[in-house]
Amino acid sequence: MNIVHRRQRGNPHKPTRTMSSCQGRDNVHMTSASSLLESSSPPLPWQHRLTQLGPQFFTRLHPTPVAAPAWAARNHGLAAQLGWPGDLLGDAHLPAFAGNALLGGSDPLATVYSGHQFGQWAGQLGDGRAIWLGEAMSLLGPQEIQLKGAGPTPYSRRGDGRAVLRSSIREYLCSEAMHGLGIPTTRALCLVASPEPVRRETLETAAVLTRTAPSFLRFGHLEHFAAQGDVDSLRQLADHVIAKHLPECHERATRWQGNPYAALLDVVQERTAQLLAQWQAVGFCHGVMNTDNMSLLGLTIDYGPFQFMDGFDPGHICNHTDTQGRYAYSRQPNIAYWNLFCLAQALLPLIDDQDLTLQVLEGYKTGFPRALGDAMRAKLGLTADLATEGQREADWQLVEDLLQLLASERVDYTLFWRRLSHAVASGGTHPMTFVQDLFLDQARWQDWCDRYLARLGQSDLAQVGQVMLRTNPKFVLRNHLAEIAIRQAQSGDFTEMDTLHNLLKSPFDEHAGFEAYADLPPDWASQLEISCSS
Ligand code: AMP
Ligand code: MG
Repeated sequence: MNIVHRRQRGNPHKPTRTMSSCQGRDNVHMTSASSLLESSSPPLPWQHRLTQLGPQFFTRLHPTPVAAPAWAARNHGLAAQLGWPGDLLGDAHLPAFAGNALLGGSDPLATVYSGHQFGQWAGQLGDGRAIWLGEAMSLLGPQEIQLKGAGPTPYSRRGDGRAVLRSSIREYLCSEAMHGLGIPTTRALCLVASPEPVRRETLETAAVLTRTAPSFLRFGHLEHFAAQGDVDSLRQLADHVIAKHLPECHERATRWQGNPYAALLDVVQERTAQLLAQWQAVGFCHGVMNTDNMSLLGLTIDYGPFQFMDGFDPGHICNHTDTQGRYAYSRQPNIAYWNLFCLAQALLPLIDDQDLTLQVLEGYKTGFPRALGDAMRAKLGLTADLATEGQREADWQLVEDLLQLLASERVDYTLFWRRLSHAVASGGTHPMTFVQDLFLDQARWQDWCDRYLARLGQSDLAQVGQVMLRTNPKFVLRNHLAEIAIRQAQSGDFTEMDTLHNLLKSPFDEHAGFEAYADLPPDWASQLEISCSS
């Protein structure tokens, strides 16, 4: 691949639909201001650093009110972790989290970005159904807050700006599940349901999800200004990301001839490599890894047709609409590299050195396999540190052989690792047959198992197993579990959603009495088709 110096080529990527009339319009109110009352006192310590960027980056607007809002879920745990007031998720603020009132002190806006979708330049996109309320200080550092599904924005294109209850429940539960697994992600603060009809393949109902993250900025935000040939705005945005979110770039620049933008690319590639290693290790398929769905902070963002794999299949495609399998499980790491290449191309006018840029990208090619190797060794209870390179290579062979075995029999991925962890934790008293039961080819399993036990050698198995039980989750958000909670919620009962949230926020705990949630999926689960529509 060769990097195209976009500054020299001008603006080769003409947006598919020009939104210039919408861009940069300050104080545009999609809803009349008088219809949205502001709550009397600011409930949060706001700071709004994003708005200092200037009007070319966003459009100010108000959410569109939704009919008869009601709480579907409230994440009091997250509010407490952030140190936000206890009454933030009280009934007084329900209208604000529905988009029917303004949270006091918020400064709502939608940001503009572009991106590559399914391998093609898609032109201008932007927050089509996400409204940024502001940035507030928290115990975990500054956090931005977005309403998702709170009505159209100038970037909605032909969309309605709404989100359906079904997909909002999936995002709420999955972002909290990812956090429980220790995987970087945007978080879900609360979910409001409304009977307002929303048309997708069928008629569904609306919901508004409130999510938080240190920043919602994506690769696509930088791509947007690069594609416009607007190097000043590109630099302003990159400087903002470095100063406000990734200050480690300053020190990292010493590795890259003092170039802070090369350092930015380096930090993003490193975080992306770590993220992808964690996705692969836990069997997570994102489903829509377009560059506009890639976080500059290396967070999992924009949960759509994602899936935690049931039976292990490297070629698994979770997105029913992805007919070519571009985003199949085993392709995710290469797609992340492809996306980083797009980001590199966007940053090239700032880095101003093609060789240096390509050199930075090389980091992913060594960093990702290393991160994945460490993650898989940890799953096997082989501590990441203290390993020689030769040992790492031998361990990787053990991992590869295991994955081939799991794939050849479509062994349930989560169940396998959990059972293996228990078997090791029992120090040999818990029969390996419990794991063996998962395989048809007993001889092949036995061969692998003998090699594995030999590798563990004289280790304290009970101790190793305990670590494995904190590494290999008992509970993941399987599609059928989400589906059951969704069907119940669609009839107005949110108890199943609540139960799932409780299990998934501590997925390594045993949760006695909830074994069924860790079982093999029922037959009907394989019939579930999850598409991009949400
Ligand atoms: P996604 O594939 O969900 O990441 O969305 C791609 C682009 O389409 C983003 O710019 C979204 O904001 C926008 N979008 C998706 N769904 C809608 C919708 N219902 N209304 C308006 N914009 C949407
Ligand atoms: Mg998106």
